[in-house]
Amino acid sequence: MKVNYIETESTRKVVHILRRYTDKPIEVKDLAEFVRHPALSHMANYLGSAKEYSNKIEVHLNFTKSEDVREAVFVHELLHIVLKYEGFPGIALRTDMVRFLQPSIAQVLENLRDRFQSTIGHLQVYKREVTDFSLSLDLYFEELVRAKIHRFGQFSYKPHAKDAEYFFQIQQDILDGLDYYQFPNPYSQKILAIFRETCPEGFAACLALHEKTEKISYSTPPLAYRCADLVRNQIIKYGYKKNVGTPNQLWSALNVLRNAKEIPLEKG
Ligand SMILES: [Zn+2]
Repeated sequence: MKVNYIETESTRKVVHILRRYTDKPIEVKDLAEFVRHPALSHMANYLGSAKEYSNKIEVHLNFTKSEDVREAVFVHELLHIVLKYEGFPGIALRTDMVRFLQPSIAQVLENLRDRFQSTIGHLQVYKREVTDFSLSLDLYFEELVRAKIHRFGQFSYKPHAKDAEYFFQIQQDILDGLDYYQFPNPYSQKILAIFRETCPEGFAACLALHEKTEKISYSTPPLAYRCADLVRNQIIKYGYKKNVGTPNQLWSALNVLRNAKEIPLEKG
């Protein structure tokens, strides 16, 4: 690990867990540097991210955030990678469909894939963050809730604009919303109340989907696969019902793989 990173009991613990599966070096970088690439600019306000390459693991931390937040993000990001090694499902792009897309659309699709991959991971990651580590998570969840509220504010939910774009946004809100149920309280209640108020339509569809995934549970890789597959299919079904049209094909271009390890890694 690079300098300017503080080792704590929790960060050591998550690295120890990861070391059961891989001895790839872990590099900590400044998120601001990583998102300089124009295709990644939408990530500038993220709390962090991680990317696994064939030869290393990179964790990107937002150094404008407090130490507590960075510690929680480090654990969070490595837990995503641990899940992969444990055999949890992955989301892949259907290359046969991607080939025919304009670069800007392909970028939207890639972003969608990343968010889908994150969301299905979060059904486990948030739980483990709370129960398996001694992290101070208050600031972290406050930041997360703030970021989600900001995202709600960016999109217009005016009822007269019920076009394809509107419902495509709601499909994404349904996906994001599954996350909110995994936050500990009071953060979960707070963001869900705002979701319900801002976008009642998306909230209702998300709640119905949440209840279904909760019944299956996300506790083992095979069950998690069933959940992820269900989420994808329900979102596509919602798109058909609402005549989302072309954007709905983006969801169809996402494949749920039984095991995230099947997705090839780039060299870093
Ligand atoms: Zn995450």
